[in-house]
Amino acid sequence: MPAGNPLFNHHNHEALEQNTMMQPPIVPPQQQPGAGGGMFNSHPQQQPQQPPLPAAYQNHHQPQQPQPQPPVQGGGGVGTTNPFHHQQQHHQPHIPQHLTQPQPPPPATVQHPPPGGITSSANRYPPNPALLQQPQAPPQQPQQYAQQQQQPQSQQGPYLPPQNAAQQQQQPPQRYVISGQPVNPSNLYPTIPTQPLPSPGPTTNNYSQQYQTQPGVGGGGGLPQNSHGHNNQYPAPPQQNPHAYNNGGVGMGVNQVTAGMNNMSVTQQGFNKLWGIDHADLLKTRQVLPPEGVKSPEIRFPHDYMNHVNCSPDLFRCTLTKIPETKTLLQKARLPLGILIHPFKDLTQLPVIQCSQIVRCRSCRTYINPYVYFVDQRRWKCNLCFRVNDLPEEFQYDPVTKTYGDPSRRPEVRSGTIEFLAPADYMVRPPQAAVYLFVLDVTTLAVDTGYLKTLCDVLLEHLDTLPGDSRSQIGFITFDSAVHFYNMNSSLSQPQELVVCDIDDIFIPCPDNLLVNLDESKEVVKHLLTNLPGKYLSSQNEPRSALGAALLAAQKILGPIGGRITVFCASLPSVGPGSLPNRQGDVKTVKDLSTALNPSTDFYKKLALDCSTQYIAVDLFFLNSQYSDVASISCISKFSGGSIQYFPNYHMVENPVQAKLFEQAMVRYVTRKIGFEAVMRVRCSRGMSIHTFHGNLFVRSTDLLSLPNVNPDAGFGMQVSIDESLSDFQTVCFQAALLYTSSKGERRIRVHTLCLPVAGNVNDVIQSADQQAIIGLLAKMAVDRSLSSSLLDAREAFVNAVVDVLSAYATTQNSLPNLALVAPKCLQMLPAYTHSILRSMGFRADLRPRLDDRSQFMNQMKTLPLYQLIQTIYPDLYPLHTIASVPLASVPQSSRSTTPENGEEEEKYPQFPVLHLCSDRIEATGVYLLDQPDSILIYVCRNVSTQFCEDVLGVQGFVALHEMDDLPELETEWSNLIRNFINYLQSNKPYQVPIRIIREDSKERMWFVNSLVEDRGEGSVSYYEFLQQLKNMVK
Ligand SMILES: [Zn+2]
Repeated sequence: MPAGNPLFNHHNHEALEQNTMMQPPIVPPQQQPGAGGGMFNSHPQQQPQQPPLPAAYQNHHQPQQPQPQPPVQGGGGVGTTNPFHHQQQHHQPHIPQHLTQPQPPPPATVQHPPPGGITSSANRYPPNPALLQQPQAPPQQPQQYAQQQQQPQSQQGPYLPPQNAAQQQQQPPQRYVISGQPVNPSNLYPTIPTQPLPSPGPTTNNYSQQYQTQPGVGGGGGLPQNSHGHNNQYPAPPQQNPHAYNNGGVGMGVNQVTAGMNNMSVTQQGFNKLWGIDHADLLKTRQVLPPEGVKSPEIRFPHDYMNHVNCSPDLFRCTLTKIPETKTLLQKARLPLGILIHPFKDLTQLPVIQCSQIVRCRSCRTYINPYVYFVDQRRWKCNLCFRVNDLPEEFQYDPVTKTYGDPSRRPEVRSGTIEFLAPADYMVRPPQAAVYLFVLDVTTLAVDTGYLKTLCDVLLEHLDTLPGDSRSQIGFITFDSAVHFYNMNSSLSQPQELVVCDIDDIFIPCPDNLLVNLDESKEVVKHLLTNLPGKYLSSQNEPRSALGAALLAAQKILGPIGGRITVFCASLPSVGPGSLPNRQGDVKTVKDLSTALNPSTDFYKKLALDCSTQYIAVDLFFLNSQYSDVASISCISKFSGGSIQYFPNYHMVENPVQAKLFEQAMVRYVTRKIGFEAVMRVRCSRGMSIHTFHGNLFVRSTDLLSLPNVNPDAGFGMQVSIDESLSDFQTVCFQAALLYTSSKGERRIRVHTLCLPVAGNVNDVIQSADQQAIIGLLAKMAVDRSLSSSLLDAREAFVNAVVDVLSAYATTQNSLPNLALVAPKCLQMLPAYTHSILRSMGFRADLRPRLDDRSQFMNQMKTLPLYQLIQTIYPDLYPLHTIASVPLASVPQSSRSTTPENGEEEEKYPQFPVLHLCSDRIEATGVYLLDQPDSILIYVCRNVSTQFCEDVLGVQGFVALHEMDDLPELETEWSNLIRNFINYLQSNKPYQVPIRIIREDSKERMWFVNSLVEDRGEGSVSYYEFLQQLKNMVK
């Protein structure tokens, strides 16, 4: 959850943080100069040449044991091109990489195509004769494929995809009515007076004149106020029709339409679109957020088949959907290049294959995938390294027709995401059992929150459904200033507690039965969970925390087998190994932050690395109301592939919203899928290289990512360089392979393959940008930058990144008006996202956020899957009161509460348009839903219609409305539709989040109002002012 959501910070921070000890900080050694060469870049490849850093201060994406590097070929591209910063170029060539498993011996002759020999048309991508000629392939499932295939078989033949979602998205966007104006993204600022248009050429226009006559802009202080007391970025719309929503009609008169059309430079826009230029001046275009929300750009290939089989953007995204053919071209586009992966996401459909031999390239170990080239029916050419490989006979065998033949029917070449059941040679040891060890804080502060009760109740309820099998093991440790162990031998009637007070040299008090078989000892475990909350009563308990000693003990217990350690932490570790000073008082200026955001000791990182080599991951739950040094303790999870969840000011009774969230998070945590003993390898086409890994992982060798556990809520990012020219290729590919042990003890490999076209033109490259992925990658780089350099540097780099790309775009356009800030359609939200992240808890340049809140925000930027990361930065705002006029959509099958019976109507939900987070979008008659990753707020304005109150809120009118934790279940059409909509939003989250209905005149309104990030805030400029600053910097 986002750090420090105001919704959950019930307590006064200052009052709670008075126990500052004012100890001098342990200052980490100076970061090596040059370690961050580019804008945000730190180059792991440089590290081996530098004096070794203490382990704790190496970035976790840097290899612990640097591998000998082959000589660098031809310099190398830098993932991010930023002319404002000096860049050092240290890159590794793309070298064949091998997994740790036993591999088949290399063939006697390795067939590499000659470097210049890839231009022949036979080597080019797409035409795959086997695929294109394929007539009616049998729709039946081959019998040995263990599970369902991903795509439903179409009757037209297997290579013509059915009408899929991508095609549906091509429908013209709905026109929504908001604030009495159509908010089509192409609408220009509505109050611009009509100017006679000169007969325009394709790229000229008269924006500058319009700009100068625009009212209400230019002055920082004179921005108008609306009824909510917030500064508007934009002057109020010329006419607001308060009844526009309630009558369900279009609240826009004919005159307004005509005036709007005239003001929009329609002619100009038509010309621009005709010539393929779809851009807008951000200073004048108030609506750049598409009503349907920002979607990932479509990746288009000439062949339909290739479009159909690519990896889903929910799992695998690249910052550019067309890869520049050279490093120089990337530098011209001045965009960051990187990939974002959500590799273990829960999927409703996943093809799973069991076969005796998994087909992989003998040279680079790429898994066969939809983008390989079949030379003939016996051979395939690797799409990453171009080696020609033999196909095993099994691969050509079609079990349905019992004939040998066309290999393209295999699921491996029909889906960009696939899972293999691994044969024995993918195991370095027998697959481990599911092992869970809980380490519980029982210091005074922790016990006072009441969390033990919730945790034990959730565990008791889900004990039978914990992921695992008959081999599953479980154990518990509690800690205050001592460490308490529990012997849970199945012969005991109740657990036997063993207390170790010698925390400086922690030992395990008995060799067995601290970790027990869950089935055999279930009754003893239940006894412990039932009695634990009552055992610790706050008044009798000990305030000091020996977290470090408890972690050392946990590692000793799990060391021989591996597994998962789950730690609950509510206080600052204060005794024994790993105890930490309170560093809050050391932060007097923003410049002091980078020290305080780095760990104060390498204890937790060292322990994490030990855990990592023993296949142990450590997951953290913070429940702190006081400073707990999240920055230092988090290292235990960051480097062991763990997860970090944060519930500041959690209290079971006094903070009911947070309590509900914690309970839901716990249910999700103990029931979600888990992969043990995991490693991930990401490969890319020859000519590119992957470097600088982001996420909770450890880079074991150059590119082998060690994740002792993997969970379905974890995201990762990598930066990519272009080292050699790609101009001979039409496409390039990335492939991520995640090898893990399921909770049932099966060794599995999940493979995702993403294919992207190559572009040779800078405009094509810029037009292909994925603005959400760019922000996702920049945020990860900015975290590194904040820690290695300073927060102010990171902020500056954010701004430079936006200025760079807008400048690059400007140079591709012939004549843009001087006073315009023009952005192509695919990048129009980039400034808004950037503005929002600059004033976020993590990156704002003041000392208002608490240190722990800031640290956790940064942890999230490194690990959240992109969808949640974007929602953390820029939540979704919907106008619920427009329900009468919005179109309906069918609830996706995965989100349905019940399966419709025959003849029963499909569940529908209203497709509300997404609004800019700006107070001038808030109408006095409106009701708004704010969808955040950890809460859903419904904000009811005082002039809300009586019908809405009665049909949805269940009250006579606004006066009768009480603040509630959910909408009432009313048997009205609107109530059903809005509750379906909320269910749909909830289904997109890892777990259900609390809902809160807020009156416009309540204290809680600030939770909502503070989310309107485009307004001017305390100490931060408005979005519009930010755009003006950008304009002055764009060259
Ligand atoms: Zn290969």
